[in-house]
Amino acid sequence: MRKFERDFRGTGRIEVIAGSMFSGKTEELIRRVKRALLARQKVQAFKPRIDNRYDATHIVSHGAITIEAVAVAGSESLKERVEEDTEVVAIDEAQFFDEGIIEACDGLANAGIRVIVAGLDQDYRGRPFAPIPQIMAIAEEVTKVRAVCTVCGDVASRSQRVVRETATVLVGGAEAYEARCRACFQPHDVPPARRSA
Ligand code: ADP
Ligand code: MG
Repeated sequence: MRKFERDFRGTGRIEVIAGSMFSGKTEELIRRVKRALLARQKVQAFKPRIDNRYDATHIVSHGAITIEAVAVAGSESLKERVEEDTEVVAIDEAQFFDEGIIEACDGLANAGIRVIVAGLDQDYRGRPFAPIPQIMAIAEEVTKVRAVCTVCGDVASRSQRVVRETATVLVGGAEAYEARCRACFQPHDVPPARRSA
């Protein structure tokens, strides 16, 4: 495990990529990771174990672009796996991590690591989706990416749940969620009918 709590080094920072489902967060994270690899930097990519929609050892976008990643149970496990010579840490689906991920990102950045964090900024009701807002607050750079509204084709910033389930965490893809703009988004517990229904 890397010692990073008080070991300040100059180049560390936190970059957040936030937005709704299908907004290209994972694509943008992968793009940044690939560029770091081109620069011959040592990169480690992580994702929460809860998100096993596609692959346990890779981060995969909805457009099927992929990089290798380690699925971890939580922030402690992530910190333990960061190696001494790692320069870039990428974390996808960060909204599924425990609160400890906030301090973990901060500590890694303090130790000189470039931390790239992607995650949902809002839950299916349109509310801030912790811990992403907290990480956005302490980040050096925040990029909001947006999808295309499934209903009207406008720019979309919200994730509409289209199945009948009220738990905040419901891991799913196009069968459970649609990207919607502010006007077409309906933040009900009981979801409205799908556009195609
Ligand atoms: P995220 O990680 O934000 O959920 P991804 O990076 O995995 O998004 O996927 C983005 C890709 O999803 C787009 O490049 C596009 O191919 C596809 N896609 C499917 N539905 C939509 C939509 N409604 N709006 C934008 N992109 C969509
Ligand atoms: Mg994603």
